[in-house]
Amino acid sequence: MKYVSTRGQAPWVFSAEAIKNGLAPDAGLYMPEKLVVLSEKDKKALLKMNYIERAAYVMSMYLSDFTKEELNSCCAQAYGSGFDPEPARVVPLDRRTSILELFNGPTCAFKDMALQVMPRLLTRSLEKTGEKRRILILTATSGDTGKAALEGYRDVPGVYISVYYPTYGVSEMQKRQMEIQQGDNVNVSAIYGNFDDAQTAVKEIFADKTFAEKLNRDGWVLSSANSINWGRLLPQIVYYISAWCDLVNKGITTANDTFSVTVPTGNFGNILAAFMAKKMGIPINKLVCASNSNNVLTDFFNTGIYDKNRAFYKTSSPSMDILVSSNLERLLYLCRDSGFCADCMRQLSDRGAYSVGSGVLSELRQDFAAYFCAEKDCREKISETFSKHDYLVDPHTAVALFCADRYAEENPGEKMLVVSTASAYKFPGAVYDSIVGESTQTSEDFGAASYEKAELLSKLSGVPVPLPLRDLFRREIRFSNIIDPEDIRLDILKFTGSRK
Ligand SMILES: *Cc1c(COP(=O)(O)O)cnc(C)c1O
Repeated sequence: MKYVSTRGQAPWVFSAEAIKNGLAPDAGLYMPEKLVVLSEKDKKALLKMNYIERAAYVMSMYLSDFTKEELNSCCAQAYGSGFDPEPARVVPLDRRTSILELFNGPTCAFKDMALQVMPRLLTRSLEKTGEKRRILILTATSGDTGKAALEGYRDVPGVYISVYYPTYGVSEMQKRQMEIQQGDNVNVSAIYGNFDDAQTAVKEIFADKTFAEKLNRDGWVLSSANSINWGRLLPQIVYYISAWCDLVNKGITTANDTFSVTVPTGNFGNILAAFMAKKMGIPINKLVCASNSNNVLTDFFNTGIYDKNRAFYKTSSPSMDILVSSNLERLLYLCRDSGFCADCMRQLSDRGAYSVGSGVLSELRQDFAAYFCAEKDCREKISETFSKHDYLVDPHTAVALFCADRYAEENPGEKMLVVSTASAYKFPGAVYDSIVGESTQTSEDFGAASYEKAELLSKLSGVPVPLPLRDLFRREIRFSNIIDPEDIRLDILKFTGSRK
């Protein structure tokens, strides 16, 4: 299978190259030249498989330059033992709603679903492309990607990773998870600014040819672990297909009945994977795009205008505090072509906004609905879900549940799969305060005080704190520096220079 750029100005490549490079040379994103459609035979086979088998099966349809044995082994290593209880569990909540739990991996966020397998794909991609240079993974994170990437890439031979996160833009638990990161090939720096500042700075470095040449002379090549990388997106398609199998096997839906999916959305990677699963033949009706107060996507799906010129809000669901959703570019490409996509992206870069026009908008609204959830509604949803269903949700998942309700008001009776993206214990202050009613504003617990909330929450709910979060505040801090976004290049050179 060939991979092409969403902006149409780069040569096609095989998947190993797409995974190694991350971004295409014309600054576009790689997409498979066509989407595979699952046959009835494929579906029958998938229904009988376990998660590891489903992952290898689906990924082999797109990674034609990998052997079946390679993919079997990558998936077995990635999804075998690091997930407790299992990689993508479907939990029925009420007659209408089921939860897709994606947070049972080693860092307690859904990013593990892709980042446990992507490093293994990258290592093989390096062999396939004959790459001799060392790889430097450069990642901007709104909290969960950074930790999941650090954990996925730690001590992978020939690969180094440097992570940048907004110092006031992540939860205390997320911050501590990164500060204590182990591994000889890792670097972490906080930056002054919000996630968009971090992401913009990192994107600029990827586009900086002079800097790339300098690194190249020293024997390094840059790559990305952000969801712009095809190696991130593909493993995410798997869990939607797997969730459908589980819904059918549990008798919640039948093989041909449609259901809808609500996804708490930031960079648009997760929901795009759901869209691709739909295009591959999974009977999904609507994709409900759930946002927090940073509701640029809600406006986009309701007006056809994407406009990032607006206030930025810091919320209790920081992984969705995003004004530029990078993967939307792939949707624009899929619904028209690279010319249309490149034109929108040029306008976004020139004036921070673009309009897709009424034709494209009405097509998009066939597949998508969009709502947002205010902070107060999010707290109420956390509290209500616990009291009604005895089930703990984190703020991101609560945003999705609230938006799923809004959708149900207009579409009663439809089966809904709500995607849960983080363990409640990554945000123990916000969750605990919402449940006990001390929740007139976003909780600000610092350092170990945040962990005390986790213990209180565990006592209250009877749900144990997940193992990977249990000893966070007893571990030694390795990374505590804070830098300006303009100094990221320097920080990189310091890191690569120390690994000569
Ligand atoms: C990353 C993340 C999201 C947003 O996912 P996108 O693929 O960026 O849309 C939502 N919730 C949590 C907890 C996340 O870590």
